[in-house]
Amino acid sequence: MIEFFQVNKAYQLGKKSITALHTTDLQIPTGQIYGLIGHSGAGKSTLMRLINRLEEPSAGRIEVDGLDITQLDASGLRSFRRKVGMIFQHFNLLTSRSVADNVALPLRLAGELSKSEINKKVSDLLARVGLENHAKKYPAQLSGGEKQRVGIARALATDPSILLCDEATSALDPQTTGQVLELLAEINRDLGLTLVLITHEMDVVRRICDQVAVMDGGVIVEQGQVADVFLHP
Ligand code: ADP
Ligand code: ADP
Repeated sequence: MIEFFQVNKAYQLGKKSITALHTTDLQIPTGQIYGLIGHSGAGKSTLMRLINRLEEPSAGRIEVDGLDITQLDASGLRSFRRKVGMIFQHFNLLTSRSVADNVALPLRLAGELSKSEINKKVSDLLARVGLENHAKKYPAQLSGGEKQRVGIARALATDPSILLCDEATSALDPQTTGQVLELLAEINRDLGLTLVLITHEMDVVRRICDQVAVMDGGVIVEQGQVADVFLHP
């Protein structure tokens, strides 16, 4: 479970302070697909970046499975971050590295597995996302959907329990979007991962999310089961 207790986030821009997230309480149950929807500037990325401690709250407390992540020291933070994978709108792949190398990177950085263990794990991950025949290719040789599959495999490399998806399908055509959403739903089902998903597309929320928070001006203006939230006239 991801829990926000009275969390507030302000950014300092020179003398000006911008409150990106007003005092917020939030609970995201383990194993859910949780959507964050709202206009640009609503505070969605800020909320997401607080979950993997890319941002620190200005006030309040955030717990993940009972662990207060606002109090972690450097080594605690390193091991916590491995439990949180992230995928991006523009995939963020290294263009000069092969598909297999991109996926292996988090495992090399973690430094816990041998070379042959890493190779085995990378093959398993590529098979899971349907790219077993693309290991030696480079990102430029892949379609958008395939690039995002590499992003997903890389995000899963350290066996995270949370996957953060920041506009993960916004750069993809509708058909490819459907396929990537299906893969994400399958990963949620098979691995029991909690998915937190930023999107500006209602349709994405309707298709795979269990719960949704609608954000506006740094506030969660509505929150609940997808069917209930979208039943409003
Ligand atoms: P999105 O398209 O997801 O709404 P944004 O334009 O809000 O993206 O933000 C893109 C990146 O720029 C984010 O990493 C965010 O932290 C950063 N950013 C957004 N607004 C500002 C700002 N006013 N000053 C500095 N960085 C910003
Ligand atoms: P969203 O993801 O919904 O587009 P963000 O969380 O990116 O919203 O942004 C919320 C507000 O915080 C915006 O006003 C944005 O400009 C501001 N903001 C985001 N990141 C930064 C940053 N790194 N520095 C300063 N302001 C930021």
